[in-house]
Amino acid sequence: MTKVTEGRVSISREILVTMRRRLSLLRATFGPRMCGVIGIFGHPEASNLAYLGLHALQHRGQESAGIVSSDGQRLRWVREMGLVSEIFDADRLARLPGFAAIGHVRYSTAGESSLKNAQPIAVDYSGGSLAIAHNGNLVNADEIRHRLEDEGSIFQATSDTEVILHLIARSREVGLPERVADALRVVRGAYSLAVMSEKMLIACRDPMGVRPMALGRHKDTWVVASETCAFELIEAEYVRDIDPGEMIIIDETGLRSVRPFAAETPHRCAFEWVYFARPDSTIGGLSVYSAREAMGRRLAKEHGIDADVVVPVPDSGVAAAIGYARESGIPFGQGLMRSHYVGRTFIEPSQSIRHFGVKLKLSPVREVLAGKRVVVVDDSIVRGTTSRKIIGMIRAAGAKEVHMRISSPPTIGPCHYGIDTPSREELIAANHTQEEIRRYVGCDTLGYLSIEGLHSALGRSAEKDGEGGQGNNGLCDACFTNKYPIAVVPAARLRQLRLITA
Ligand code: AMP
Repeated sequence: MTKVTEGRVSISREILVTMRRRLSLLRATFGPRMCGVIGIFGHPEASNLAYLGLHALQHRGQESAGIVSSDGQRLRWVREMGLVSEIFDADRLARLPGFAAIGHVRYSTAGESSLKNAQPIAVDYSGGSLAIAHNGNLVNADEIRHRLEDEGSIFQATSDTEVILHLIARSREVGLPERVADALRVVRGAYSLAVMSEKMLIACRDPMGVRPMALGRHKDTWVVASETCAFELIEAEYVRDIDPGEMIIIDETGLRSVRPFAAETPHRCAFEWVYFARPDSTIGGLSVYSAREAMGRRLAKEHGIDADVVVPVPDSGVAAAIGYARESGIPFGQGLMRSHYVGRTFIEPSQSIRHFGVKLKLSPVREVLAGKRVVVVDDSIVRGTTSRKIIGMIRAAGAKEVHMRISSPPTIGPCHYGIDTPSREELIAANHTQEEIRRYVGCDTLGYLSIEGLHSALGRSAEKDGEGGQGNNGLCDACFTNKYPIAVVPAARLRQLRLITA
């Protein structure tokens, strides 16, 4: 054995620690964020169905996409940067034969645009072949990664999904479901997962059920997907949501459900209903469209105003604006048109392009706006830069007054569980009063939905206290309340890491 001097050991440790910290920060910033997952089992053209399902889930991620298929003997995969329609063609899908497939779309506004972080990830290990697709974010992935690296594991990418894969491969349990459960008992955070071997599909949701996942069926084919809108496209019937903490196992013998984790109070992400999910999806038995309309109605009750027209910011504010218009009796008008042909190029991290992108994406309809007192409805204000541009645009089109209404409470905290929100420093409502925000975005009045209003629109009230009876109404609303159900790395530590990596 080589004898290493004290000095050299301490230097290499220092380097190792610094490198790890850099990697931690990269992962904290660039880990998997907003994503969509689909799994198909028991169809001769499983990859085609996965492809169609990914189209329906495209809003959940536009950076990269992939499909892994199984013909019972081996796994095959295609993963690329880009949109589903850009990546897959008949030739590529023909290279993905088999009766089972899992697919993934990934998005990270500030993320490392790298193919190695694209999913599903597929590997060979001692137990055979394995593929995994993940929506969510783990809060202890770095801790586990460091331990595994100390024990000799080699990681290919910066995503925390790979950590789950390593834990599954290293588990001493025998069957795949037991290995997956064993791995997931170690991780903390939000995950809705599809895991596939040559002969089995497993779908699993974290014990708090932060990110959605549902089960569907088309004749003898089982489908699992992040959102039910994927079922509609492939004509699968919605069976039910996968429960928080539930694992669904599908193989040639059929489907079974197990609950391998200790029960926890559910914390379904409220922001899925507010903004992220598609309005034609149903989450936890509640239609996203109806929830948004109810938010708009409640918003009209909380922040009514004398005005001539209610205008949505398309597409995110449409359902809430309809609710606001119905409740207030003010006519609804399409005062802003959205171009649907602006590609990914303009969903870019840099502020300068973000500014430019607003004009490319939206343009005013003067006939609706000129000379009017306008209520403009959007789902949220994040940095305030888009809203400022939109209000400027409405005024330039001749509006007499502009009243902004937001169908959720002020966004005051970043999401650590899989939605790509900027850091607290960049969140306008975390650092400014509502009057300051009003002045910055340039509207005459500004009204946000209250937290009680949001809970009530989601069919939950303090009296009923939804599920669990813990006062959270079965919701995670940390981005509006700063009450994080799963402990995260304190900001002070992250700041320290930033200094080190600067
Ligand atoms: P801004 O005025 O720049 O804060 O932008 C507000 C717009 O961002 C709203 O139309 C929201 O629908 C949208 N939005 C909210 N959350 C996100 C998110 N996590 N990623 C991208 N856009 C978002």
